[in-house]
Amino acid sequence: MKQWEENFRKVVPYVPGEQPNQPGMIKLNTNENPYPPSPNVKKAMDEFDMDKLRLYPDISSTILVEALGETYGLNKDQIFVGVGSDDVLATAFLTFFNGTEPILFPDISYSFYEVWAQLYHIPYVTPSLMEDFTIKREDYYRKNGGIVIANPNAPTSLSLGIDAIKDILEHNKESVVIIDEAYVDFGGESSLPLLKDYENLLIVQTFSKSYSMAGIRIGYAFGAPSLIKAMNDVKYSYNSYTMNQPSLYYGTEAVKDTKYHKETLEKIMKTRTWVAESLKNLGFKVIPSSANFLFVSHEEVPAEKIYEELRAKKIYIRHFKKPRIDNYLRITIGTDREMEVFLAAITEAI
Ligand SMILES: *Cc1c(COP(=O)(O)O)cnc(C)c1O
Repeated sequence: MKQWEENFRKVVPYVPGEQPNQPGMIKLNTNENPYPPSPNVKKAMDEFDMDKLRLYPDISSTILVEALGETYGLNKDQIFVGVGSDDVLATAFLTFFNGTEPILFPDISYSFYEVWAQLYHIPYVTPSLMEDFTIKREDYYRKNGGIVIANPNAPTSLSLGIDAIKDILEHNKESVVIIDEAYVDFGGESSLPLLKDYENLLIVQTFSKSYSMAGIRIGYAFGAPSLIKAMNDVKYSYNSYTMNQPSLYYGTEAVKDTKYHKETLEKIMKTRTWVAESLKNLGFKVIPSSANFLFVSHEEVPAEKIYEELRAKKIYIRHFKKPRIDNYLRITIGTDREMEVFLAAITEAI
């Protein structure tokens, strides 16, 4: 090893689901939304004034923050925006988790949490989910440097009620509790009503799933003004201009169109219901989902075999080679048509 290499920051990077680009593929592997963003986003694109690109964007992302505030009933000083919720979460880890006590998150959850903990040298402990993949809340009633819970959880799709989150907050008045609500719009229960009572609660959401805009890279967090200010101070200390000019306008239009948002969610939840039923009839165990994906395991046929067979037909789903979940498959909910083709293929595979 070269002398300078010893000084490199060593980290095992997060591995996202593959992003194939095959003609005729059905892509159900990274929980993208199968429907387009609000038509108002298209309109904003057509009308976007190129001259705006000449200038640096508004450092406070005011129009976007105001639109989020309007839709979610919050003040500007309770909202942080970033380049995807990955950026928001990474900033939150960097900002809040500088203690010596370990932070806590479940052993089976969004695998980026562990990567950020390693990147920033944050000590962490990962309490095991129960056999049925539910979170045992008592595991979070111990001394800690912070808590991160995805609700609904990924890749399990299970959600916790607001009472459980409240309980966890009641037992953790001394540390920041982050609730990652990337999937909450698909049938979970948001912790938003708890914000007024808990100054240490940070709720993180994203445009990537329910707003059909994974490609735009916008995420946001809701929290007490003191938390939001601390995050902005950190953000402005390494890169002030993260949110680009077009994203500000397109994101604003998306979040204002609450009617379209709701219609899209309802379509996906309806599709999820019949796909879950069909998979059960094929002998799959289907975890009750509050997300835009299903987490399933077949009683007889190994998950990896099914994954490979679908892949050969250019139908992409997700398989994790990880202990406890390596016989499960995560399947994003696509359009009805896509799910019909998927079901025909998976029927053949088993
Ligand atoms: C998809 C996802 C995110 C990040 O999404 P962005 O595209 O970066 O906004 C964060 N947390 C969970 C649990 C996710 O599934």
